Amino acid sequence: MERVYFDHSATTPVRPEVAEAMHKSLTEVFGNPTSMHYFGKLAREAVEEARTQVAQSIGAQANEIVFTSGGTESDNMAVHGVAMINKNRGNHIITSAVEHHAVLNTVKALGKQGFTITILPVDKYGLVAVEDLASAITDKTILVSLMHANNEMGTIQPIKELAAVAKSKGITFHTDAVQSMGKIPVDVNELGVDLLTISGHKIYAPKGIGALYIRKGVRWRQSLMHGGAQEKLRRAGTENVPGIVALGKACELAVRDLDSEPAYLMGIRDKLIKAVLDSIPNTSLTGHPEKRLPNHASFTFEFIEGESMLLSLDMKGFAASSGSACTSGSLEPSHVLLAMGIPHELAHGSIRITLGRDNKPEDVDKFMAVMPAIVERLRAMSPLNQENEFAMESDCVACRSSDTCYRQA
Ligand SMILES: *Cc1c(COP(=O)(O)O)cnc(C)c1O
Repeated sequence: MERVYFDHSATTPVRPEVAEAMHKSLTEVFGNPTSMHYFGKLAREAVEEARTQVAQSIGAQANEIVFTSGGTESDNMAVHGVAMINKNRGNHIITSAVEHHAVLNTVKALGKQGFTITILPVDKYGLVAVEDLASAITDKTILVSLMHANNEMGTIQPIKELAAVAKSKGITFHTDAVQSMGKIPVDVNELGVDLLTISGHKIYAPKGIGALYIRKGVRWRQSLMHGGAQEKLRRAGTENVPGIVALGKACELAVRDLDSEPAYLMGIRDKLIKAVLDSIPNTSLTGHPEKRLPNHASFTFEFIEGESMLLSLDMKGFAASSGSACTSGSLEPSHVLLAMGIPHELAHGSIRITLGRDNKPEDVDKFMAVMPAIVERLRAMSPLNQENEFAMESDCVACRSSDTCYRQA
């Protein structure tokens, strides 16, 4: 069966140029970058070249980049490192309700350790209001962490304006740019941020590698990894040299392709959004209609569950994802959709399609050849659908049972 990958916000395939650079590093540059000898020196040079590539891709200086094991570690390091060094100055941290769990759960964990936390709300498009941030700041605020673009509904936050508010009060500002990197320009000076997170596997590098940008002069303390003196005492542990080389290459290519790739993806995205909204009734786009990632389309479908749609799509060869957080093993719908005021039932019927450089406009035609029928079939079985008579009765049409069906509970 031909398969179409529509889940690039979850992860991306490693692109050939990156795999090639990584392969060379794996086979030829095996030294430990800390070693004084020839082999160590080769590895060290590879790491420093990658550091320059990453730095240049976001307008930073090479010595402001720390390599990590990925977006999650970078987010943890940013939030924790700023909180720990500033705890004698103040204990208030501000974030938003739509952050990735790598930020949200780190902030919440600090909330249990004596920090006061404010979780800013968002509007129906998922946007944080600049005024809300301004009025949440107190003289105890030490950190604001707000993401650049959202992984679940694609909305792009006004980071430049938000960071300016924090800066005017002398407060450190972190942004998670994992999803925006390579899709829209990400420049630390243009955005005015102090710390910024990126992750390799969202930009065609492998999993398990990421970076944290820490602006020179910003108060931050290594507080999670204890061990050797790697990364100028900012991150202990022998460097993941092949991963670092891959991230460097991926960042270089991401920025090079900013001229063409976002426009290409946006063309496919808009074709997809129009097709879904025009030909499937009771369907809405989630997130902001314009201020959204060029590769991101996310919808809610009334009366059905995201998981059933995903499984049906997978059987037809399409890989998408849902915002129902079943990935986390819970049946709770996405915290992001709920924060936008989408009711529980509707949030359960969400689906996310995220495009990548390997997708083609024809993928939308192939998708639309199967999706309306899937939705129709699932709606015909759904007890949530008032048009289905059985919804009023005790027996569930899906499983012909009234006592064992979970839908009846
Ligand atoms: C994927 C993702 C992360 C986590 O990155 P990992 O490298 O998978 O740990 C953090 N933030 C956002 C917005 C993401 O999409």
